[in-house]
Amino acid sequence: MTAPITAKTCTTCKQVKPIDDFPPDLRQKSDGKQAKCRACINAWMREHYRKDPVWSMLRRAKARSAKEGFDFNITAADIAPLPEKCPVLGVPLRISEVPQDPCAYSLDRVDNTKGYVRGNVVVMSYRANRLKNDGTAEDHEAIAKWMRQQMAATANDNTAANNQMEAA
Ligand SMILES: [Zn+2]
Repeated sequence: MTAPITAKTCTTCKQVKPIDDFPPDLRQKSDGKQAKCRACINAWMREHYRKDPVWSMLRRAKARSAKEGFDFNITAADIAPLPEKCPVLGVPLRISEVPQDPCAYSLDRVDNTKGYVRGNVVVMSYRANRLKNDGTAEDHEAIAKWMRQQMAATANDNTAANNQMEAA
């Protein structure tokens, strides 16, 4: 029996790195790992995202679908051309490499019980997508109503406190 592989050389940066720095790739019969290290794959993904964000978003949605078991049948035609502004919040959208940039392009599944399928995807801001999360329209209305009530109550408390201070 041969000793387990603990390190290998990345085909891109040519550095010897621990085997855990290489993501799994079942097509690789030798060690079940990709030829490129994680850092090089991430750099490559960022580069492609800059050049072709639609392609990148599709690729990510496809990977996510495979992982989560979502249906996936969309193509570039379903999300291009990318909008200039978020259709929900109206903020300008941008290609962003900063994780969780509120204004980054984000692909939303309108109905979260469905996958990335034709008619169920909309490009919006990361922030809008995150806020929407898995809430229904009714959930969001309930949250908005509750927030307004809380804000009004807080404002009343402050007014009462100020009045008391002035009276004292
Ligand atoms: Zn590398």
